[in-house]
Amino acid sequence: MLNKNQDIKLHIDGMTAEGQGVGHFDGQAVFVKDAAVGDYLDVHIILAKKTYAIGKINKILEPSPDRQALDCEVAGKCGGCAYRHITYEAELGLKAQRVEDAFKRLGHLDIKLDPIIGSEVDGYRNKAQFPVSRDTRDNSPLIGFYAWNTHRIVPCMDCKLQSPIFFDVLSIVKDWMTEHNISTYDETKGRGLLRHIYIRRAEFTGEVMVCLVINGDDLPNEAELLDELKIGIPRLKTVVLNINKDKSNVVLGRANKVLLGDGYINEKILGKTFRISPLSFFQVNSKQCEVLYKNAALFAGLTGDETLLDLYCGTGTIGLTMADDVKRLVGVEIVPEAIEDAKINAKVNGIDNAEFYCGDAAVVAAQLDIKPDVVLVDPPRKGMAESLIDTVVSMEPSRVVYISCDPATLARDCARFESRGYHTLRARPIDMFPRTAHVETVALLVKGEYYNEENS
Ligand code: SAH
Repeated sequence: MLNKNQDIKLHIDGMTAEGQGVGHFDGQAVFVKDAAVGDYLDVHIILAKKTYAIGKINKILEPSPDRQALDCEVAGKCGGCAYRHITYEAELGLKAQRVEDAFKRLGHLDIKLDPIIGSEVDGYRNKAQFPVSRDTRDNSPLIGFYAWNTHRIVPCMDCKLQSPIFFDVLSIVKDWMTEHNISTYDETKGRGLLRHIYIRRAEFTGEVMVCLVINGDDLPNEAELLDELKIGIPRLKTVVLNINKDKSNVVLGRANKVLLGDGYINEKILGKTFRISPLSFFQVNSKQCEVLYKNAALFAGLTGDETLLDLYCGTGTIGLTMADDVKRLVGVEIVPEAIEDAKINAKVNGIDNAEFYCGDAAVVAAQLDIKPDVVLVDPPRKGMAESLIDTVVSMEPSRVVYISCDPATLARDCARFESRGYHTLRARPIDMFPRTAHVETVALLVKGEYYNEENS
C-alpha cells in the first residue's frame, strides 16, 4: 500500500483515456501526468487511495523511446496538450490501441481496425476560446488557456495547435484592453466585463470571426477595437458580442449582438458551403473533417437511391456533403439554431432533397415514419440512448455508420447493436485532435443478412 509523500521507482506501461501515464507498484495502479509508455521514473506520490495512487515525476531515470523535446513554453502547465512530449507516431499508436482496447474490453468485440489516419499537427484548430483576466501584480491583461483541471489562466499567445491568425487578433484585443482599461470578469465575484475572446477561422475560405464574450450589454470603445481589427486582420468577416451574464463557468451565453458583418463565417467542406455562427457546432479541424466525412461516405456506400437518416446532425454538415448521392436526406438535431443553420446550409447549396427536424434524436426518430437504408449517427460523448438503438434497429437499415468521439461509448453501443442482429464490420480511428488525448472513430455496422451476403 502506497503512502502520500512516498518516493518510488516506476515503469510506465500504459496510458489513461485522458493521456496520463499508468504504472503499477505492488499491484496498485499509479497515475502520472506527462509520463510516457516505456519511461522508468522516480515518482513522488501526491495522493494515495486504496485502489490507486497519483504521482508526480521527480526525475526521469530512463526516458521512453517515444519521448521528444518539448517545443512549447507552457507544455505541462496548460491543460491543452496531453501528448506534446511524445512523437506524433507514438501518439497515433496509443490512440489506435485505445480504440481497439475499448472494443475488446468494453464491447467484447474483436475488431481488426483499419489503420488510424493522422492529421496535420500544427495550426489545425479553426476555433479557440481564450479566457482573460488581469495580472494581480501589475494589472496587465492575461490571455491564455486554463491550467489542467483548474480555472487558473496560463498566459499563452502562441499556441501551436491554433491557426496563427488567432494571435494577431489576441494582440490587437490585448492592446485595446490596456489602452482603454477594459475590465475582465472575475469568476468568484461575478463582476467585470470581458470573459473570453472567442475566435473562429474557416480553414478553406480564410474568413475570420471574432467574438467577445462579455458580462454586460455593450462594449466600451467599440469603434476603436473594430478599427484596429479591420486594419490588422485581413480576412475579418464578422465581429460579434456574446452576452453572458450568468455566474457560471459556461463560456457562451444565448444572445449575440453583431458589431460587424453578418454574424457568421462560411467554411467549404467537400465542395459545399457551410455557415458557422458563434453558437453552432462545427468540427474544429477542417482538413481532417473532410477526411472523416469521406470515410463516413465510404462506409455508407451510397448509390443515389437511398434514404439517409443523419442523427445528431448539428448544422447538417455530414448529411449535406452526401446529399447528391442519396434520394432523400433526413436530419435530426436537438439545438434549434443548428437546425435553422442546417436548413440554410441546404438552401445555400441548392440541395432540395433534405429535411431537418429539431428534437431529442431518441424521441424524434421514434416518430419518423421512414425506412432509411443508411443511418448515420454522430452522438456526443455519452453515446446513443438505448431506446434510440432499438428505434434504429426497428427501421431495419442495411447499414449504420457510427461516428464517435468516445471509444468507450462506441464500443458499448456497437455491442448493443450486435445483440440486436447487427455486425460491426469495420472501424477506423481518425485523429481530429493531435496532441490531445481525444480520438474520433468511424465504424460501419451492417444488418446480419447483408453481412452474410457480403461475406459468403
Ligand atoms: N454531425 C455534426 C454534429 C455532431 S456533434 C457534425 O459533424 O458537424 C453532436 C451533435 O449532437 C451536436 O450538434 C449536439 O447538439 C447534438 N445532440 C446532443 N444531444 C442530442 C440529442 N439527444 N438528440 C439530438 N441531437 C443531440
